[in-house]
Amino acid sequence: MSTLILYHDDCQAHDPGTHHAESPQRQRAVLSGVSGIKGSQLLPAPLASLEQLERVHDPQYWQLVLDADPAEGRVALDPDTFLSKGSINAALRASGAACFAIDQLFEGKAKNAFCATRPPGHHAESGLAMGFCLTNHVAIAARHALAVHPAKKVAILDFDVHHGNGTQAIFEQSPEVLYISSHQMPLYPGTGYATETGCGNILNLPLAAGTGSRAFRRAWTNEGLPALQTFKPDLVIISAGFDAHEKDPLGQLELQDSDFSWITRAICEVAEQCCDSRVISVLEGGYNLDALAASSQAHAKALAATH
Ligand SMILES: [Zn+2]
Repeated sequence: MSTLILYHDDCQAHDPGTHHAESPQRQRAVLSGVSGIKGSQLLPAPLASLEQLERVHDPQYWQLVLDADPAEGRVALDPDTFLSKGSINAALRASGAACFAIDQLFEGKAKNAFCATRPPGHHAESGLAMGFCLTNHVAIAARHALAVHPAKKVAILDFDVHHGNGTQAIFEQSPEVLYISSHQMPLYPGTGYATETGCGNILNLPLAAGTGSRAFRRAWTNEGLPALQTFKPDLVIISAGFDAHEKDPLGQLELQDSDFSWITRAICEVAEQCCDSRVISVLEGGYNLDALAASSQAHAKALAATH
C-alpha cells in the first residue's frame, strides 16, 4: 500500500495578497518536494461536505464566511486572514483531503497520507477565522473519524512553530481527542502554556526561541511520545507545520530538515504499535519556500518508508 499525497489546484486560487507569507507558491514548493517519492501516490482532494464541516464549525460562522465571499479582490476576516475569490473552495479542499485520507486508511486502501493543501487550519476556531486559517482541517478530520469510522480515540500531534489554539479550543472538553503541540513561546497566538491541560487531554510543550533540535527532540522523547503511547489512539493526525525550520521567517526554533524526518519516524513507530500505523498528516505553516520543499519532502519520505 502506498502513501497518499493529496492536493488540488483549487488550493492555488486562495490569494491573500502579493506580500502575504501564506502564498500560492507554498503549495507548488511542497509539491516539488513530495512528487515522485517512491511508494507514494498523488491523488486529487475532494471538497469537504457541509456535514463534515459543521461537525466542528458553527453554521452561523460558515454563513458569515459565505456572505463575505468576494466576487473580486479580497476581504479581511482578521488582520492576517483574508478571503479572496477561490478561498472557500481552497479551504474545503484542504478539509476534504483530510477526511478522504481517513476514509482511505480505514478502508485499507492506503498506508498513510499527507495533505499537501492550503490554507492551513490549526488557528481556526469553531466560530472564528484566524491566523491565515478558515477551517480547521485536523479538527474536521478527527470528528469525521470519530463519527463514521470505528475510531474511539484520536490523537492530534502538532509540530508547527505556532500553537494550534483553534484545535485546542475545539477539543479541550473532549477526552476522546488528545492534542499534543510543540511550539515556540512566546509567539503568536499567545496560547499554549504547559498549564493549559483541557480535561487532561491537552499537552503543550512550549519551547524557547533558539533552542533548536536538541530541545525539540527532548520534549517529544520525554513527554510527547510517551503521552501518545499511553493514550493508545485509533488514529494519529499530524498538524505538519514546517515553520520551525531554521530558515523560516516567522519562527526561531531553528530546526533542520532531519528533525522533521525524525519526528515523523518517531510518531509512525508509536502508531505502528497502537493503531495499525494509521497516520494522516495535514500541511500547516512553513514560509521559506526552499525549506518548505525540503522539510515536507523529508516528512513525506519518512511516511512512505514506514511499514
Ligand atoms: Zn505556523
